[in-house]
Amino acid sequence: MDNYDPVELWDLCLKEAEKNLERTEFDTWLRNSTYEDVNGSRMVIRFRNSFVAGHVKSRFGPILEEIAREISGRNDIALQFVGDPAKPGPSSREAVGRDNGHSSSDSMYLRSNYTFDHFVVGPNNQLAHAGALAVSSDSGSTTYNPLFIYGGVGLGKTHLIQAIAHRLRLEGSGRTFRYLSTEYVVGTFIKCVLQKDYSKFRKLFQGIDYLLMDDIQFLEGKVETQEAFFHRFNELHQQGKQIVLTSDRPPHELKDLPERLISRFQWGLVADIKPPEYETRLAILMLLVKDEELEVGHDVLDYIASSIRKNVRQLSGVIHRLAAISRLTGCRIDMNMAQKEIKSTLGTISQRLTPGTITSAVAEVFDISPAQLKGKQRKRNILVPRQVAISLIRELTSMSLKDIGSFFSGRDHSTVLNSIERIQELRESDAELDRKIEEIKRRLVSI
Ligand code: ADP
Ligand code: MG
Repeated sequence: MDNYDPVELWDLCLKEAEKNLERTEFDTWLRNSTYEDVNGSRMVIRFRNSFVAGHVKSRFGPILEEIAREISGRNDIALQFVGDPAKPGPSSREAVGRDNGHSSSDSMYLRSNYTFDHFVVGPNNQLAHAGALAVSSDSGSTTYNPLFIYGGVGLGKTHLIQAIAHRLRLEGSGRTFRYLSTEYVVGTFIKCVLQKDYSKFRKLFQGIDYLLMDDIQFLEGKVETQEAFFHRFNELHQQGKQIVLTSDRPPHELKDLPERLISRFQWGLVADIKPPEYETRLAILMLLVKDEELEVGHDVLDYIASSIRKNVRQLSGVIHRLAAISRLTGCRIDMNMAQKEIKSTLGTISQRLTPGTITSAVAEVFDISPAQLKGKQRKRNILVPRQVAISLIRELTSMSLKDIGSFFSGRDHSTVLNSIERIQELRESDAELDRKIEEIKRRLVSI
């Protein structure tokens, strides 16, 4: 196993398996598995618990092994499936259903380490964390209903909402929850429409004390699902059930959602998560390193924390890959290794930040065409977005003023400079514009 990355190999295996299995089957058994370790030619794959691991071994083991061998080109690869040792003895009953008679299979979507213990609190996520703790605390807190957590990709929304689920599950207080991805909810609704039977959809929201719904922005444009969800939301809320939602944007920025739904999202506590500051990034890295039982020098951690600023998922990605490389090669993680890894991680972002992608993102948010942006028209509704695109390209790429000018139909560098200054001024006086620019940046950095 020296010419490829086992994390990537397992990822590819999953992609292949996903193509061949029913969606629900894949979601239930395989989606949340993670590559854990490699031991000679044996790859260890971890599952939520030993019941799931055992089931996967007997049902899919041989085929997964075949896929892994095919992708890697190595015939000696063996897969070992293990459960989470931190929570031993999950009975088969827990995995297939609970005492309350409702399937708790949703809890199998939970990542075992997305707990409060593994969540580093910093100024960037303090409010969201406090809200999540409050709603899952003993007394509950219906004042935060719903709890609406929003923030860019990879900043810990799923981690926090699942931490609530873990807490409810482990506490044994008997409070029931359902963790749902919005995509799953939309998918279920569509199936119900086709079958002209909505009971399955309604069931998703019944018999629970907590509805935990992740990535609610996927309701955008799904008018009928929105309508159906609106009723379920009201019902749960009236019954005093706790609702927690996450989104990549604040409620009022969700497009095409009816005002009444947006206003309901704002009834309780709306809390944002921002990218973490340096100290928080460092603390997260230290936690990851401890989890992986790695030895990494402070200078290396400092270097990683200083280089990756926008996205916690990238931070953890770097550590996981460094861990894998170090295990495979038997070498200690050093500065050299870290630099290479960071370069390739950031490389993939900078590839996305081209004048073309930036212009498209600006055009989309302002609802005009990229051609109009690059063209000659000077109407204000096009001029301002054009100036936004120019200043963002200047900020996010290393293009010269002259090159930026030529990208925009041969304008000169003073026009480019003027645009940048103009946008700086406007951002201070025009909150709406400022918000839009932030939204574009968020999209670009986290696609
Ligand atoms: P999102 O749902 O916002 O896109 P995730 O919750 O999936 O982001 O987080 C991405 C990764 O970063 C996960 O591995 C998560 O555990 C980790 N992470 C995010 N925020 C924190 C934090 N504050 N402390 C520890 N790990 C974090
Ligand atoms: Mg998420």
